[in-house]
Amino acid sequence: MKNCKVIARCWTCDSEHDITHLGITEYGVKCDKCGGYVVSPSGKIQSQIIPAVKVFEFDDGEQHWIAAETQEAAEKYFNGPYDGYPEYTVKEVSREMLFKPCITSEDSRAPVSLAQIIFEHEAAFPDCIACSVC
Ligand SMILES: [Zn+2]
Repeated sequence: MKNCKVIARCWTCDSEHDITHLGITEYGVKCDKCGGYVVSPSGKIQSQIIPAVKVFEFDDGEQHWIAAETQEAAEKYFNGPYDGYPEYTVKEVSREMLFKPCITSEDSRAPVSLAQIIFEHEAAFPDCIACSVC
C-alpha cells in the first residue's frame, strides 16, 4: 500500500494524531492537546490507515477528483497553464466519503473507493485520480 499514513485518536478528547513514524514499542504516548493517551501505557490505540493526501472534487459540469496535499495545489493543477478557467466549484471530499466505493472505470468491475485508488496510485500528486468522463 502506498501514499498512506496512520492516524490514532486520543482516548480522552478524540483528536487525531499522525503516528506513521512512531516506533512500534512506543507506549504511553500522550496527547499534546489534553494530556490524555494516544497510545495507552499498555499499547492500546484507536488507529486507522488513511490516504496521505486529500481529495478535492472539482465540478465544471463534469466531476474531477484531484488528490493533493492542499486545495491550493489541487486548484493550481486543475487550472493548468490556462488563465480564467471556466467557472467551477471545488470542495474537499470528507474522510467518510473517501472510503465509500463509488468510482467505476472500464477496467474495474466493481466500484472502488477514492482511498483505494490513492493507495494504488503510482504517479506523484497533485494528480487527477478519477473523473466522470473517463
Ligand atoms: Zn487528547
